[in-house]
Amino acid sequence: MTENGAPDPETAAERKMRFLFALRSKGVTDTRVLAVMERVDRGQFVRGLFAERAYEDMPLPIACGQTISQPSVVGLMTQALNISPRDTVLEVGTGSGYQAAILAHLARRVYTVDRHRRLVREAQELFRELGLVNIVAMTSDGSFGLPDQAPFDRIIVTAAAEDPPGPLLAQLKIGGIMVVPVGQSDTVQHLIKVTRLESGYDYEELRPVRFVPLVEGISAD
Ligand code: SAH
Repeated sequence: MTENGAPDPETAAERKMRFLFALRSKGVTDTRVLAVMERVDRGQFVRGLFAERAYEDMPLPIACGQTISQPSVVGLMTQALNISPRDTVLEVGTGSGYQAAILAHLARRVYTVDRHRRLVREAQELFRELGLVNIVAMTSDGSFGLPDQAPFDRIIVTAAAEDPPGPLLAQLKIGGIMVVPVGQSDTVQHLIKVTRLESGYDYEELRPVRFVPLVEGISAD
């Protein structure tokens, strides 16, 4: 307590403890994922008005009318990918760059694409500042994947598709894993884990989620 009886402001260490506790209580238990999420400061990826809420387990608005995902959902998706240090990962939906930064600490190389040039540019600046040299970010319609860099060990889609996009399924290595929210926007979406088998694909439904929609084409901004 301070002299006037108000509670002490939370210290950075306490804030981090609370952040990690929220992740664990929502089912993020993989110690490598937790260690990386402890290291990557979400506060650096949220600008302006909402910056002070960066350590709460909620999605927040970013530029271009998009959102940075809820930390526990970032953790659960990352955990479901079961990334090894040799993996090449494709992320569709760079947004703030937060998810890509986490992937970059776990994988060999991360390709991340967004349909908004501004988001890609701002994320690239952050990656440079943070020394994350193994991320390649570009403006592109991610529903077609990145044929020139394919196939990928892991693919993560952070916008909701009506079905897992065919080109992304095709760009997954055998034994590879993709996580993608599937469903109509504004109705129930489910996080799906797709594993590519020798012949065909295995689909596992993980949990209900809510993401902004995957939209066709490059945006004007
Ligand atoms: N992973 C982000 C959150 C992404 S929000 C983070 O960590 O902050 C979803 C993003 O998907 C938005 O930035 C949106 O512009 C992008 N998006 C939607 N449709 C897309 C498409 N077809 N290709 C590439 N990006 C797309």
